[in-house]
Amino acid sequence: MAIRVYSCPKRLLNGPCGGALEGACEVDGRHCPWTGLIERVPLEPWMLFEEHPLLAELEGLVESDSVPRSSAFWRKLTRGKAFTVEFPVKVVRSSEDLLRVLRTLEADLVTVPDNPLGYPHFDPVAFATRLKDVGVRAGVMPHVTAKDRNLSALASELRTAQLFGFEAVLLTTGDWPGLSMPSRPVFDLDSPNLLRLARLVFAGVMPPGQRVQVESRPRVAGTMNPHYRPRVEARRTIRKLVAGAEVLFTRWLRGGRASSQSERY
Ligand code: SF4
Repeated sequence: MAIRVYSCPKRLLNGPCGGALEGACEVDGRHCPWTGLIERVPLEPWMLFEEHPLLAELEGLVESDSVPRSSAFWRKLTRGKAFTVEFPVKVVRSSEDLLRVLRTLEADLVTVPDNPLGYPHFDPVAFATRLKDVGVRAGVMPHVTAKDRNLSALASELRTAQLFGFEAVLLTTGDWPGLSMPSRPVFDLDSPNLLRLARLVFAGVMPPGQRVQVESRPRVAGTMNPHYRPRVEARRTIRKLVAGAEVLFTRWLRGGRASSQSERY
């Protein structure tokens, strides 16, 4: 069984995105139809929902997983604590800015955000590749979202992330791109199916069924929304874990300031 709600602007399958604010849709401000619906779905059968049909078919081609890439970030996380920093892309206007920021940056993992709220800056995978080229001391984790790219483009982004040695990728559904300007969204996939696609590509299976050689792979990260009611977020989280998320990043408010935290699975 699969559920699709046609009044959801992103036409998501089997659950809500992370963008509802106090039950209001991030796109049009109306009540998010998923919020009440998903709370009524019993927890156990939820794991048996049918996800994306092509990805389900491709999962039958996976022979074995590749080796997760060794990184200081993961070693420290398994010991209890790792330090991640979101790269301040807004301050970069030249190559000199990039090198200047890198000289001062202390972290186990540098994350490269996607276009928040649809405001364009750098392509995260291309930017993360550049960070690798200039010898960043930390691990690198680009954010990849489903809002701007169809399944084929996402597969090639993930293949790039695998080939160019990133330590992790953070996969989310993504904000509605038309919030900042008229721009057509894509949303071929939601975050759980994007996680599934990543595990396929990193295991050497490219859509629509080509096999590629893979020696090692990035860790696969998802996100949690601490503002959702537990019954909603539990269902979203289960789908992501079943899809193959190995670590989940979240945020919480402490003393009025946003902080972030990750949990390993
Ligand atoms: S908040 Fe997200 S899941 Fe809910 S209706 Fe809007 S786009 Fe759909």
